[in-house]
Amino acid sequence: MPKKGHIPERTCVICRKKAPKYTLHRFCIKAGYIIWDRDFRTGGRGAYLCSSCIEELKKRKAFSRLLKALRAEGVKNREAFLEEIERGVKSGFFRGDS
Ligand SMILES: [Zn+2]
Repeated sequence: MPKKGHIPERTCVICRKKAPKYTLHRFCIKAGYIIWDRDFRTGGRGAYLCSSCIEELKKRKAFSRLLKALRAEGVKNREAFLEEIERGVKSGFFRGDS
């Protein structure tokens, strides 16, 4: 059990808002692919986004900000990744937990 007052906080890379880690969404890079790390289990450098900034990823500027936070020049799966995000938005995955 994590101790009260020791909930790790992370900063959204788009709006810079701080929030408890598990209320944000984690992304990371693996072998040149960007991965939506839904269960926070993928190792390596991660970057976090809040629910209200998820849709921003469709914009080139926001997407490149995420890549920058991940120290990546580019990814091999930009289109597929954005489709996955879009499906997440439509299914309500990102609603109400920011
Ligand atoms: Zn945000």
